[in-house]
Amino acid sequence: MTVNIALTSEHIKEAAKALKSLRPVYKDMLDFYEQIFIAQEDSKSHIQIEPIQIPDDIISVKAKDNFPLINISDFVIDTKASRDLLIQICNIVKEMKGDMVVSAQAVLEGIETGKIDPDSLFYSLFEGGASFFEKTATRLEIDKNALAFITYSSIKPSLNICAGQLSTYLDKESTWEKGYCPVCGSMPGLSMFIGEGERFFVCSFCWHQWPSKRLHCPFCDNTDSKTLNYFYSEEEKEYRVDLCDSCKKYIKTIDTRETQRYIYPPLEAVSTLHLDIKAQEKGFESGVALGLQI
Ligand SMILES: [Zn+2]
Ligand SMILES: [Zn+2]
Repeated sequence: MTVNIALTSEHIKEAAKALKSLRPVYKDMLDFYEQIFIAQEDSKSHIQIEPIQIPDDIISVKAKDNFPLINISDFVIDTKASRDLLIQICNIVKEMKGDMVVSAQAVLEGIETGKIDPDSLFYSLFEGGASFFEKTATRLEIDKNALAFITYSSIKPSLNICAGQLSTYLDKESTWEKGYCPVCGSMPGLSMFIGEGERFFVCSFCWHQWPSKRLHCPFCDNTDSKTLNYFYSEEEKEYRVDLCDSCKKYIKTIDTRETQRYIYPPLEAVSTLHLDIKAQEKGFESGVALGLQI
């Protein structure tokens, strides 16, 4: 592993500072996400989750059939830490005066007056809670995407810790051949080259990172070099965008060997929207819905 992966709040601050000076156009956005990501990392030290136990025979069956360890609805979250983070995130959103201010204000009022039960919000996210979100958002007269963003951001540290605990069940000796997350089955939102150039995919939901083959489209499992391409720019050598001609999807890749600055994957995801635009102009679409994963 390279040493420039950001793991602490201090590292995130440094990562954000470097990105703001490299790409000033993202300054406001980075100011916002820097605070959210630091709040999330800090919240991890308060999280207590009893590790999920999976019997050995189930583990072998799952490994043999390429099933992820759990379904999304099996994730355990620390509801107390998530509630505290929810309030903190709403306050960050309010201070930043962006598009989501009205939603954050309404969520805070909803919690104070008992109109919103945060735990129901958290768990509805696991159960494909689109209709619940829609109903809650309509009832509060707020944007449902803003509500989903605030909710997901509040449970993300728990998801990440839970995934870390579960990853001890994964077989370190064999490469996971599938494109979806071996822990939760979600698709990757990013890929990374780390260390000697090993490729890792980063789950768009639980943020677990797992090693993969270098040539592999995670969205259709294509491994044919003739139909897997990428583009990059000389000015930003640490990025490339991998394109699959077979399914017409793309994934952004960060090459940590090409830069000395700290890399915090969620920050890289939000400060490379110009690459998403470029890939889409070339006729490719993102393999995951943009916007809610970060
Ligand atoms: Zn995952
Ligand atoms: Zn593909």
